[in-house]
Amino acid sequence: MAAMNAFSELRPPLDTDAALVEADRCLFCAGPYAPPPCAAACPVGVDVPRFVREIAEGRPLAAARTIFEDNLLGATCARVCPVEVLCEGACVLLHEGRRPIEIAQLQRYAADAALEARMPLRSRAPGNGSTVSVVGAGPAGLACAGELAAHGFDVVVYDAHDEVGGTVRTAIAPYRQVVDPLPAEREALAALGVEFRFGVRIDASEDLAALVDDSDAVFLGVGLGADRTLDCPGTELSGYWPSLEFVEELKHGDAPVVGDRVVVLGGGNTAIDVARESVRLGATRVTLAYRRTRELMPAYHFEVEEAQEEGVAFEWLAAPVELLGKERVEAVLFDRLRLGEQDARGRHALAPTGERFLLLADTVIGAIGQSAQPELLTWGLTHQDGGLDIDEAGRTRLPHVYAGGDAVNGGASVVQAVADGRRAAQAIEEDLCRV
Ligand code: SF4
Repeated sequence: MAAMNAFSELRPPLDTDAALVEADRCLFCAGPYAPPPCAAACPVGVDVPRFVREIAEGRPLAAARTIFEDNLLGATCARVCPVEVLCEGACVLLHEGRRPIEIAQLQRYAADAALEARMPLRSRAPGNGSTVSVVGAGPAGLACAGELAAHGFDVVVYDAHDEVGGTVRTAIAPYRQVVDPLPAEREALAALGVEFRFGVRIDASEDLAALVDDSDAVFLGVGLGADRTLDCPGTELSGYWPSLEFVEELKHGDAPVVGDRVVVLGGGNTAIDVARESVRLGATRVTLAYRRTRELMPAYHFEVEEAQEEGVAFEWLAAPVELLGKERVEAVLFDRLRLGEQDARGRHALAPTGERFLLLADTVIGAIGQSAQPELLTWGLTHQDGGLDIDEAGRTRLPHVYAGGDAVNGGASVVQAVADGRRAAQAIEEDLCRV
C-alpha cells in the first residue's frame, strides 16, 4: 500500500494523458444498454457517456458543460460521491468482470478544468422578477440557488458561516478532497447571479417569517446540527473528540496527536472517515466499535472493506459503558450486546449479554451522528424523526417554503442533497409560474 498521511488524497487527480486513456475505454453505452446504467444510477442523472466521449475527443470544457447541466457542484461531487454504489457500481464493464470506468475521476478532470478556466456554469435566462431566499449554503442550498439563478430568479443565500459548503466543509474528511473546489464553485455561482450573505443566522421563527414576507419562495437547506452527545461518563477526559471537531481540526491543517491506539465509536460513514484518517495520522491500532452488526452498519459496505484493508479493526455489537482514565482517556469499557426482536420498522432491539470488555485507547472519537437543527423544532415543520416534513417535490407544510438535503433525510450523500435542491428549484419555478 502506498504511504499515507492525513493529508494525502484517497484518489489523486488524473492528468490529461491518463484522462484520455480512461475515457477511451468507455463503451458509450446505447442501443441494448440504453438508458446507460451509469447515468440511470446517478441521483441527478448526469449524462455520463456524453461527457466521457467529450473528454475522449479532447474537449474537457464541453464535458464540464454537460456535467454542469445536471450538477452545478460537479467538482465537489466528483470527490465525495459514493460512486462504488452509484455510477461506477452500475457500469457495464464491471458487470462483464472488468474494471469500471473511473467516472468520478473523469468528472473531476473536466469540472476542475472548467473552474480553473472560469468558464460559466450555465447561461442565465433573463430576469423574471421573482425572488427566492435560500437558507443554508450546503450542497442542497447551492444546487437550488444555482438552478433558480440560471432560470432568471433573484436568489439570495444566507449562511451563518463565512463560506459555502455546509456538511461538505465540516464533515467530509480531508483525505477525500485535498484541494477544496468549494471556493471556486461559490465564485462560479456568484457569476451566475447568486448573492451570498454570510454570517447571518436564520434561527428564529420571526427570521423565517421575515424571509417569507420578503421573498416569493424560501428554500431551507439547513443541514444537521452538532454531533450527538455520547451518553456515557468520561467524555470530559482529554483525548476524547466529537467527530466533527476532529475533522475540523484536520481541515485547519492541525493534525491531532492521536497516539498509537484509537477507538472510534459509531457505524456511519463519518465513523469510517475518522478511523481511516487515524490510520493516516500514524495510529497503529485503530478499532471501530459499533452497537449492531456489520450488516446493519449505515456506512457503505465497500468503505468498511477499504477500512479493513487499511488496517482498521472492528468490534460489532459493542456499546460503550464508560471512558476510563485520570486526565486523559486510557481505555473504553464496553458491554457486549446481542440483537433482539425486530420492531414494526424492522429495527432490532439490543440487549446486553452480560459480557464486558476493555479496549485500551490513547484517543477516542465519537461519531454517533448529528442531531437535527434545534430551530426546526420550533418552526413546527418536522416529522417524528426530527427531519423536515416535505412532499415529493420538496414543499413543506408552510406555503412558499421548500426544503431538502440532510435536514430532510437525516444525512444522505452530497449528490442526494444536490438532487433535492434541484427538485425543489423545479417545484418553486412551477409554483411561481402558475401564480
Ligand atoms: Fe461508459 Fe460504463 Fe457508462 Fe457504459 S456504463 S457508458 S461503459 S461508464
